[in-house]
Amino acid sequence: MAKALVLEKKGQLSLRDIPVRRDLSPADVLIGIRTVGVCGSDVHYYTHGKIGPFVVNEPMILGHEAAGVVLEVGSEVRHMKKGDRVCMEPGIPDLSSRSSKLGIYNVDPSVRFWATPPVHGCLTPEVVHPAAFTYRLPDHVSFAEGAMVEPFAIGVQAALRAGIKPGDVGVVMGAGPIGMMTALAALAGGCSKVYVADLAQPKLDVIGAYEGIETINVRQQAASEALAEATGGWGADVVFECSGAAPAILALPGLARPGGTVVLVGMPVDPVPFDIVGMQAKELRIETVFRYANVYDRAIELIASGKVDLKPLISATIPFDESIAAFDRAVEARPTDVKIQIEMPA
Ligand code: ZN
Repeated sequence: MAKALVLEKKGQLSLRDIPVRRDLSPADVLIGIRTVGVCGSDVHYYTHGKIGPFVVNEPMILGHEAAGVVLEVGSEVRHMKKGDRVCMEPGIPDLSSRSSKLGIYNVDPSVRFWATPPVHGCLTPEVVHPAAFTYRLPDHVSFAEGAMVEPFAIGVQAALRAGIKPGDVGVVMGAGPIGMMTALAALAGGCSKVYVADLAQPKLDVIGAYEGIETINVRQQAASEALAEATGGWGADVVFECSGAAPAILALPGLARPGGTVVLVGMPVDPVPFDIVGMQAKELRIETVFRYANVYDRAIELIASGKVDLKPLISATIPFDESIAAFDRAVEARPTDVKIQIEMPA
């Protein structure tokens, strides 16, 4: 038995003992979890009991943004050893699927993703995971930063999808954790400047503190207007939609320059109107992002090299024993909170 943060059902969490699996397949590693980030999706399962078609019908361990230490390796694991500090990709695809063979394992229909029902997450002291989806962290990268690799990977995926060219001007709609990390990935990917637009000034203050980021408070000025002023009426080369909010989505064509690119990252809860003619009139290229594939190495390198510093986005670190309180704080959605992390006892 081991302690785990279990979502019993919508609105009910408990920290209780569960039976643990410690049988290592030859290609697996056993990991001692050290830090886990609280994600909007974990919180949404807690408050709503479902996300789209994924419904919590039985108790499920939450958590999927994690870093830890390798405790044991399977008999066929060569690239990893006991004591390695690591972070993990939470999605485990079927490696023989057509999607996986194409390299787009993130859209493998049979992918099993931590804390997406009915798959358990990692808010428990030990997990078994395929070594192929476990990545070593350099010594100077903390577990806290390691647990940020998962959400940052989405930003890196978005930057890659955008096909950024050196000097491009970017704009990010939505200053949630993913919007912020997308903005930082876009800067690291070659943007000369990235505008981040949101309603919440405290969040804009956090991301606006980075060099290369300009903020737009859409309560004060429409993003399209602010961007037109800043770009002489031309618009942004790359527009990242990270809010999932209908008004932002409808406004996308007004943000991009003719021939620019729109990357859809945020996920609206319901279908939303989309300005197709606005897109056509500028011949915009539309890209979509679902999680990530083959970007963890890049994400870790960007952090390890110091090119991207995610530490200012960590708002609170809460001990595992108080993880229910951590989730309740996340539900509160304090305007100054970006990422809340839970720390396991060493
Ligand atoms: Zn997440």
